[in-house]
Amino acid sequence: MAVWCEAKVCFNPKVKIAILQSIFEIERVTSRIMNERTAAERDAPIYGSFRELFTKGFELDTPTCVFMIGTHIAAVVLGIWLFAYAPSEWVWAATIWIVIQFFLGSGSTTLYTHRLITHKAAKHVSAPVHWFFCFFGQIFSVQGSVRRWSANHSLHHGVDRHGKKELDPYSATWFDGPIRNFVWSHTLSHMCNHPESEEYTRSHNAKRHWIIMLQDKWYGLLTTFWLFLFPMALGYALGGWYGFFGLMAGSMLGTILVQHNTWTVNSVTHMWGKTDGLNSSASNNYVWLGPLGEGNHHGDHHDYPRDYRNGFGVSGWLLDPTRYGILVLRACNLVRGLNRATEKEEAEIIAGREIAQVSSMTAFNREAAALKKQLDTRVMELKNDWIEALAHWETLKQESKLLQQAADRRDELAKEIAQARAHVNMRKNAFFAELEALRTQAMSFSA
Ligand SMILES: [Zn+2]
Ligand SMILES: [Zn+2]
Repeated sequence: MAVWCEAKVCFNPKVKIAILQSIFEIERVTSRIMNERTAAERDAPIYGSFRELFTKGFELDTPTCVFMIGTHIAAVVLGIWLFAYAPSEWVWAATIWIVIQFFLGSGSTTLYTHRLITHKAAKHVSAPVHWFFCFFGQIFSVQGSVRRWSANHSLHHGVDRHGKKELDPYSATWFDGPIRNFVWSHTLSHMCNHPESEEYTRSHNAKRHWIIMLQDKWYGLLTTFWLFLFPMALGYALGGWYGFFGLMAGSMLGTILVQHNTWTVNSVTHMWGKTDGLNSSASNNYVWLGPLGEGNHHGDHHDYPRDYRNGFGVSGWLLDPTRYGILVLRACNLVRGLNRATEKEEAEIIAGREIAQVSSMTAFNREAAALKKQLDTRVMELKNDWIEALAHWETLKQESKLLQQAADRRDELAKEIAQARAHVNMRKNAFFAELEALRTQAMSFSA
């Protein structure tokens, strides 16, 4: 009955808007209690220019600037040489290197550094996973050490909760205007040392796995080896100077491609998108952006960061190959205890977004305001019905799962019960046998 009533009412666009706006009014109060700010307040600029940053304690990170500018120049120069003058076999070899580096680096950032470490998407991550990504895979993403990346990213998400926007290391809403916001969030933020704060120190000192700390210590050496020494030595051994420069070209081009691919998550997905997130400026784009499924559902990710998936619903399955990687690791027992949002939590987020979207439409007219009053109670009932029905369904599913687990264990349990019974009988017999022996002995003494 409730569903029919809702569908019938919603066919009238004016009434539909009134319903959604009325939900929004109530939801906005809840949202404001949690965040104490609207989306417009949240995304309001706080700096006027880049120069202003340097009066607030920011300074250029010279070694990083040299490295970033140097690798970009090397990529362009070697890239021109590669495609214009190098023998075709080295063009192929360099292209293979680029493809491998792109997928390995991007995949390591999203799967390991981002989801498993920063967001603790799995309760247990085994040592081989730490070793593989820390000392091999993640180096090819050229994003700094796992510890540093993870600390900065925690600050990036922390803003969604505490609202201290100035702490976001790569905010895309600091400035008034898209060009400054894009340049800052995409590249410039990585070239600066940010002022320290209590939150910054806490985030960077957060307890990490000892292998991660080891990688942090040896990061410079690992990068030098995998990005420079290894391709140069391998290329030279296989093809002399053509091989040397061919694989170096592959390594440099791979480096800048993997970096810019990752940075689109900080810039593009926080500036433009199809579906706005609820708690941040991040949105869902539903196209390939960012490393292996990280950017296209960035709104979903910010609204439920601990989820091992990076997108709700069917599109989440289609556009998030990283989740397959995590599921494969789980199947191999290399990670355990994956976190994910419940259906109820997902529904609450999706409902909240729909309502927020309607809120940005024109203000109530008199007719809609009158309708709103009448429909307030009904609308809340419908929404609660939906969420309660989902919660009930989830409880039943959980019960069914427990019963299934019990059924699966029934045979095993029957065996254990039989063994326990035999054990009881054995102990009982041993007790009476010993007792009898003592009694016999006692009787012989007393006789
Ligand atoms: Zn983000
Ligand atoms: Zn994240």
